[in-house]
Amino acid sequence: MGEYLLRCVSDGSVRPPYSLSCPHDSSLLRAEYKSRQLEIKDLPGIWRFIDWLPVKGIIEKATGRSVTYKSQGLARELDLENLYISFNGYWPEKHASLPTCSFKDLEAAPTMQMLLDKGERSSLVVASAGNTARAFAHIASLTGQELVLFVPEKALERMWTIVPPGRITLIAVKGDYLDAIQMAEKVQSRKGFTPEGGARNIARRDGMGTVMLDAAVTIGRTPDHYFQAVGSGTGGISAWEASLRLKNDGRFHPELPLPRLHLAQNIPNAPIYYAWKALEPEPYQEEMFDDVLFNRKPPLDMPGGVRDALKATEGMVYGITDREASKARDLFEQSEEIDILNAPAVAVAALQKAIEAKSVSSKDIILLNITGGGMARMKEDHSRHMLQPDVAVSSWEDAALFLEEGS
Ligand SMILES: *Cc1c(COP(=O)(O)O)cnc(C)c1O
Repeated sequence: MGEYLLRCVSDGSVRPPYSLSCPHDSSLLRAEYKSRQLEIKDLPGIWRFIDWLPVKGIIEKATGRSVTYKSQGLARELDLENLYISFNGYWPEKHASLPTCSFKDLEAAPTMQMLLDKGERSSLVVASAGNTARAFAHIASLTGQELVLFVPEKALERMWTIVPPGRITLIAVKGDYLDAIQMAEKVQSRKGFTPEGGARNIARRDGMGTVMLDAAVTIGRTPDHYFQAVGSGTGGISAWEASLRLKNDGRFHPELPLPRLHLAQNIPNAPIYYAWKALEPEPYQEEMFDDVLFNRKPPLDMPGGVRDALKATEGMVYGITDREASKARDLFEQSEEIDILNAPAVAVAALQKAIEAKSVSSKDIILLNITGGGMARMKEDHSRHMLQPDVAVSSWEDAALFLEEGS
């Protein structure tokens, strides 16, 4: 099991288990696992990486994980010799079976297990524009944990599970994702409720970090480059942290530089892109190619955050237009023969740009994180339970009142 010390990235001070913050600054916390070397366990799904997950037990029914494979179709189109794809979704032929079709399933499972380890009895509160809420709805349905979801009305159609829904309260927010987050923040600070912690939650980050672990184990070394579409950029932090652990392990070619992060955002809603490039941000646009990629307050400047991850890996950030992403999505789907979500298409477009700019060469070992896909396949193969909203609210007070009356 994953035994660890919890340390502040900024000054290395050790914090009590399950802390989310540091005493002296806004630093992220990081797990320092007792096992220096990663021993793959004979356990289902991501639990095979339990040495480097902050959990004591496992959720046996949560059997999903990343699948890493060497691309042929897209690699040929892009003239790349060593393109590896981390597929995070549903694709039975490749044994990819993330139950809600995105890598948010990798975050939800260890987060839920950590709550179980802790004996947490309060209701978990999650705000999301879609994929995170769906992932938590699934895992909570497996474990019976009480869950309160704040989801913008526009995203309700994304709320489904392939298992019978558990004790889930779905609150439809009349507003956008930011409104949903702000309402959730108010509610989760009340008695009887607990936040999931976002980027500060090591279980979320180390769950996503299994993408890098799976790739390194499959390829036999860490990649030269890592491409991912980001909203908060937490996946980028996770990939960096996982590669630090792999370097320290010593068996994955520690002499290599850390995998360079290539993070892609969908402009104009791209705060990480503008901040990294020191550009004046373009005005926010209501409609975007994939709104799961929008986050107004990404964990950018705190110690251990996105900026540190980019600096440490000599990383790059790309601004991708809707049109570039749409064309990249077609190219991917035709060459790899599986449907993908719009978000990872933004990463595919960034890879194309990197090739054009000669930031990667045809022989480099490249890891492309397809953060979600196989939704069309899933809909063919499984019947889904659509989650119905329990209430629609326009203020957090309304939500709190509703939750109090219900308990
Ligand atoms: C959440 C999400 C992302 C972005 O993840 P970060 O938290 O910014 O790393 C990318 N793709 C999909 C499909 C997502 O659901």
